[in-house]
Amino acid sequence: MTDKTSPTTFADLGLIPTLVERLEELEYSQPTSIQSHTIPYLLEGRDLVGGANTGSGKTAAFSLPILQKIYQQDKPNSRRGNTVSHLILVPTRELASQVAYNVKSYSYHLRNEIKTVAVFGGVSVNPQMLALRGGSDIVVATPGRLLDLVSSNAIKLDQVQTLVLDEADRMLSLGFTEELNNILALLPEKKQTLLFSATFPEKVTTLAQHLLNEPVEVQLQSAEASTLVQRVFSVNKGQKTAVLAHLIKQHQWRQALIFVNAKNSCNHLAQKLSKRGITAEVFHGDKGQGARTRVLEGFKSGDIQVLIATDIAARGLDIEKLPVVINFDLPRSPADYMHRIGRSGRAGEVGLGLSLIDYDDYHHFKVIEKKNKFRLEREQVAGFEVDDDQSEAYFAPMKPRAKPAGTGKKKKNRNQ
Ligand code: AMP
Repeated sequence: MTDKTSPTTFADLGLIPTLVERLEELEYSQPTSIQSHTIPYLLEGRDLVGGANTGSGKTAAFSLPILQKIYQQDKPNSRRGNTVSHLILVPTRELASQVAYNVKSYSYHLRNEIKTVAVFGGVSVNPQMLALRGGSDIVVATPGRLLDLVSSNAIKLDQVQTLVLDEADRMLSLGFTEELNNILALLPEKKQTLLFSATFPEKVTTLAQHLLNEPVEVQLQSAEASTLVQRVFSVNKGQKTAVLAHLIKQHQWRQALIFVNAKNSCNHLAQKLSKRGITAEVFHGDKGQGARTRVLEGFKSGDIQVLIATDIAARGLDIEKLPVVINFDLPRSPADYMHRIGRSGRAGEVGLGLSLIDYDDYHHFKVIEKKNKFRLEREQVAGFEVDDDQSEAYFAPMKPRAKPAGTGKKKKNRNQ
């Protein structure tokens, strides 16, 4: 049996040479923690609940064992009707196409034997229906579009052998609970189920308890995450844009991803930066799928240097070697803070997660620190020092503050 504690190569984990060869081509020199802690168990067919930071390499962790299972167990062309054997559910369109892209890349040498299809909303359904015809080995789907396809008989879920719930916390917080339950009801009882989530609120724990059968539990504080440096700058109220423009010009970052809390703030900030000579593109839920894809491609390729986004970009997106994420607005939820900054410093790359806070943010940033169990030194930007009566010390309560009404309940933000 494989040593599950200290394997050093993908072959040690039990992967077949065809897959190992492909990983070498992709220059994956050794497994990440999540991969070495999960792949051996998944190859044995165990259920799994995995907590891992974003960027930890979990797509390969769950998809490589599936590919191996198909290659070893399913005879080529055993696909039938409109069935699917392995179903990966994800919360967003972008993640669906990204995961499908990676799965196809990992299965490059098995491409004649393995059919992977991505289905997600916001684009025409017809090509997806056509692609599903004759059955699929792997389908990567967002819940809503999957159910649409089920109701039009374009896909049948009764032959699913493996179910992966990726970013389960995000799926539930985006309001997919009902869709998820409807999908689960269509799946066969006997299957291997994997649930990945960066955070474990009660809803996720309950789902895991109902769904998983004696799961292996892997909770990683990924070592890779330590390459991400966090910094926080105190600024005077009304000076965030000036400070941001200054930082962008000073550091000349190859790319910068800037988060704000509302769709219209994206456009406002882009206009204000433009007046300061900085061109920025925006990415939010009001943009059509075509525009979202174009902007993302432009940002990934480096054609777009500054991207201003709402939290729809906070989860799962993999932008290679993204040097910096900036919180222009703080996210309401401390968990989203981790997801946002996790866009940088992925897969062991050096990254920077930077937040700008003014006196309206001081208390909330403390909550973010407390919930995420870190504490940062407040810095100031030279030339933009904070006035005494705007400093955090000035606002520090003499006595412990009473809990403000309404904290603890996360509101669904439809303004992204
Ligand atoms: P994920 O968390 O699956 O989105 O992966 C984050 C990034 O890490 C992606 O760009 C992957 O291509 C990359 N990656 C995954 N596993 C490895 C590995 N073992 N070695 C190097 N890069 C990896």
